[in-house]
Amino acid sequence: MIDLQFDKALVFFAHPDDAEFMAGGSIIQWVNEGKEIILCVVTNGAAGSNDPAMSREKLIASRMEEQREAAKVTGVSDVIFLGYEDCMVEDSHDLRRDMIREIRRHKPDIVIGPDPTMYFFAGQYINHPDHRKVGEALCAAVSPGAATLPIYREELYDKGFEPHHLTAALFGLTGSPNYWVDIEAVMEAKIKSVSVHHTQTPEFGDQFSERMHQIATFTAEGSDYKYAEAYRVMNFRER
Ligand SMILES: [Zn+2]
Repeated sequence: MIDLQFDKALVFFAHPDDAEFMAGGSIIQWVNEGKEIILCVVTNGAAGSNDPAMSREKLIASRMEEQREAAKVTGVSDVIFLGYEDCMVEDSHDLRRDMIREIRRHKPDIVIGPDPTMYFFAGQYINHPDHRKVGEALCAAVSPGAATLPIYREELYDKGFEPHHLTAALFGLTGSPNYWVDIEAVMEAKIKSVSVHHTQTPEFGDQFSERMHQIATFTAEGSDYKYAEAYRVMNFRER
């Protein structure tokens, strides 16, 4: 398996709760190993309720609060909210520029985000378009964006955001994994980190726990682990 060495990671996902669902075990494991993890949430989560009585402002505020609570469970050191509209994410120059800015500001060794090539999962689930678009914009922000001075120069380099080289990019929620993180020891903590997103899944009983274990078992296929989260890794140091 790929030898992934890093001290600091910047994690990009579309919605509040995505990071915990897709990478929560990895984040907890990495924090336990002494690594620093920062989370950047692209959208405001405003489409996360079908309750007609739920106001937009209340939902956005609740989801930000839930995300901050989840970050305390996983040990994420900082949460950045970019505030894009939920369900309307495009691979835009605004989003690419915002991602590059955060990469240059925080100077992580690696970034993590969703695999933009995933449309369908196992005949059961069509990937959320926001996940794909965040993944697409992240690819552009990683290469050539973060390390290339002239890109959005007036808004970035001229304002003090100097080019930054990443050592790797990890794409989760993938059908083509080449790297797995063993999350067996942190499964309960992962489930807890998801469970604080009360607006998303009100019932976090045994059935939910069982489902989370099933997903982690399925994701571990191809590895030696019992429960895992999986990634498609671009390892730039091996070029
Ligand atoms: Zn999502």
